[in-house]
Amino acid sequence: MSDQRLSGRCLCGAVTFTATPKGGMHACHCETCRRWSGGVYLSVACETVEVANPEAVAVFDSSEWADRRFCRSCGSTLFWTLKGGGLTAVSVQAFDDPSAFAFEDEIFIEAKPSNYDFAGDRPRRTGAEVMAQFGGED
Ligand SMILES: [Zn+2]
Ligand SMILES: [Zn+2]
Repeated sequence: MSDQRLSGRCLCGAVTFTATPKGGMHACHCETCRRWSGGVYLSVACETVEVANPEAVAVFDSSEWADRRFCRSCGSTLFWTLKGGGLTAVSVQAFDDPSAFAFEDEIFIEAKPSNYDFAGDRPRRTGAEVMAQFGGED
């Protein structure tokens, strides 16, 4: 998927964007992502995200290192953004074609409620492993 601009939007259409994904889809089971997204946060890391109408996007300051962005009008979960820049985890469900991304891994597996599991074989990493590698997620 590298070097390809893909388009997406929120539920109501007030927010439209294009983004350049790199790599596949990540599923985060952490409590913050579950409360924020109303599910498991399925996202893809993007180097650049261009929002057509940034004023339609609300920002929630969720941690020292990242914020979470959503549509002001319809509340759609859209972007997890690293404050230092350089990385935005865009909701796979906001893209026009969510099936474009291979299911790469699951993270914060220790925070997953016991009443669901994703089938299939893929890396399932703990929050500590993720934090050690990237230095932040919540
Ligand atoms: Zn909207
Ligand atoms: Zn998370």
